[in-house]
Amino acid sequence: MTFVLGDIFGVVTLAVGIAIGFWLGRLWAKFVQPEPKAVPEEESTVYREQLAGMIQFTSHFTGDLSKHIELLENLEQKLAEPGKDSEVTDDGPSAKAVELIAQITAANQKLKQRLESAEATLKTQSQELEETLSEARTDALTQLFNRRAFDEERERRWALWQRKQQPFSLLILDIDHFKRVNDTYGHDAGDMVLREVAERLNSVMRKTDYLARIGGEELAILMPEADWNSVSTVAKKILNVIRSLPVQYGKTSIDVTISCGLMPVIHAEGMEALTKGADEALYAAKGAGRNCGFLNNGESLIPIENQNSMPTQHQEPQASHKPSAPDVDSEPIARNPVSELDSAANELKNRLFQINQSTLP
Ligand code: GH3
Ligand code: MG
Ligand code: MG
Repeated sequence: MTFVLGDIFGVVTLAVGIAIGFWLGRLWAKFVQPEPKAVPEEESTVYREQLAGMIQFTSHFTGDLSKHIELLENLEQKLAEPGKDSEVTDDGPSAKAVELIAQITAANQKLKQRLESAEATLKTQSQELEETLSEARTDALTQLFNRRAFDEERERRWALWQRKQQPFSLLILDIDHFKRVNDTYGHDAGDMVLREVAERLNSVMRKTDYLARIGGEELAILMPEADWNSVSTVAKKILNVIRSLPVQYGKTSIDVTISCGLMPVIHAEGMEALTKGADEALYAAKGAGRNCGFLNNGESLIPIENQNSMPTQHQEPQASHKPSAPDVDSEPIARNPVSELDSAANELKNRLFQINQSTLP
């Protein structure tokens, strides 16, 4: 019995060792190496420390597993030793055999408790790591995604467009005369306006839209549509949700408006051209007196609110503007490190559960 148990245990332990090593290696490579986007020094120090803690813990834990295997092997040897002490006779097992089996059961029980506590520790540590990662992608003032998170999401959506022709649009918006708000009511009032704008925009966003603060008073939205009706509806909605009601700062009512520029990906020749195109549309809105939006279709800048529909040619991808189909395997889609961490943690949890089961006496 112990021989079989020891064998199963050894194989499972080895598999877990490899899985833990592989998992930590993947995390290490992902967060410690600064490619493709450099992580600021202080954040990468936090990742390093948290990962180093997890690695240290895991190596202690695997050390415990080795000791357990050693103990099982010793006990197994004793059982295999010739002599009547360990023999099983017609009258049942001898006192020595009973004692050895009891020792194995106790050792397995102890290991089971260690595994449970190891699982809990790893879960806490991975949650802490996840929080650090999430903080690194959040803007502290508005709680929206920050510039770095936005750049990653834009790249991800661009790759999906290239690989699967999944369209999207980029909308950039900027608070009008924001400097005046600061100058007139103070910086705290300006901060309050920024938070309120973020909240109102969030209230009209759909699950599939991605809202981020990409600069001082500049925000951006990635949305999964590229046809005129859908994108102009979103733009009108966000212009209205801001202009319709003044922001309350104590007893002071502050009128706030925004300007926005939109570009559907179907009109952009590259990712940078998309951003530049949306920016051009935003400048057109500022030039037209602010509190309005423009759409860049690659050829002209069209005011969003003075037009009910676009000619058909603007709704479909234009051959001359559509990027050439890239090699499907040459551009991997950027992955979200937080969900990556989630699945790695789940993977580890499952493995620990397997060992737990297999070592039950
Ligand atoms: P425009 O309509 O052309 O966009 O004019 P503007 O005044 O909004 O633009 P400008 O670029 O002249 O000024 C932007 C101001 O935003 C200046 C800067 O101090 C302020 N700002 C940037 N970030 C923050 C912030 O986090 N809090 C506050 N209160 N102000 C900020
Ligand atoms: Mg502004
Ligand atoms: Mg600005």
